[in-house]
Amino acid sequence: MLKSSLPTFSPPLWRKVMRQNFVDIEKLMDFLQLQAHDRSQVLKNPRFVLNVPMRLAEKIVKGSLGDPILRQFLPLINEESLADDFALDPVGDAPCKISNKLIHKYEGRVLLIVTSACAMHCRYCFRQFFDYEVQDKSFDEELKIIAGDPSIHEVILSGGDPLSLDTSALSLLLKGIEKIPHVKLIRFHTRFPIGIPERIDDLFLGLLESIHKQIWFVIHSNHPLELDDEVLFALKKVRQLGIPILNQAVLLKGINDDLATQQKLHERLIEGGIIPYYLHQLDKVQGTTHFEVSPLVGMTLIEELKKQLPGYAVPRYVKEVPGQPGKTEIAGV
Ligand code: SF4
Repeated sequence: MLKSSLPTFSPPLWRKVMRQNFVDIEKLMDFLQLQAHDRSQVLKNPRFVLNVPMRLAEKIVKGSLGDPILRQFLPLINEESLADDFALDPVGDAPCKISNKLIHKYEGRVLLIVTSACAMHCRYCFRQFFDYEVQDKSFDEELKIIAGDPSIHEVILSGGDPLSLDTSALSLLLKGIEKIPHVKLIRFHTRFPIGIPERIDDLFLGLLESIHKQIWFVIHSNHPLELDDEVLFALKKVRQLGIPILNQAVLLKGINDDLATQQKLHERLIEGGIIPYYLHQLDKVQGTTHFEVSPLVGMTLIEELKKQLPGYAVPRYVKEVPGQPGKTEIAGV
């Protein structure tokens, strides 16, 4: 028999790792050895589907529904509790859309929604109801808009998670942004390396290195257990390219709303050379009432952190108020 002369396509390692994600709730519950009472708390057919990288699932204590990693990803029946002040678009993205994939909310910056895909599905995600463009994969229209507006100095790549895109697609996008002289900064908002650090591979690092504009990374980590050595090592390779890395965390009930966890999270970040940037008050997206922490608790935590950590390790405690020209600081204890 003649062998096919077509070249075989081998997906990168991170894609293979991603295929091991838990997307089946029963399989995850079996893997975690959850008992009948705990299983009865789980929402079996959530609209925002389950998606947890194996690496994170392996960090979860078996048989423990209260585990701080698990709580971030497991759909619970609490998601069915609705409240009047919890909305589908709590941060007011929709009125600021200037194209299907471009949000212009703040002066000088635009947010480019490059994909709907993520390496993991966080239950508190404020964009879980976002009306993503899923047909048109090109960025021609968005690049044209950015090129035509000299007030735009920074393009923020968001989603979903921009690292869900293949490096070849990211390359086309970054090279397109490179050609726009008034854009000086490119920012990645990503949680991907927390679940799949293999994403920071040589091909991607080579792409980052080839870009002449200043790149910034803003990662999203909420708990010190997320920041194992392999994750920090992958991020170090990004930093070694002269790319600063900041972290934003979300204050989440039962996950990181205590001083010991916040202190360990921020100590671990600075050990990894990552600058604590924001601690976000929960964006009130529908189905997330069980994650809400009182701002008074948040302000008290920040005051306590200031006593325990160097100033650069204390994040700014903020919330997003639709219509405001930037994040709103929460202070006043
Ligand atoms: S990784 Fe970010 S965008 Fe994706 S589900 Fe989590 S919070 Fe939302």
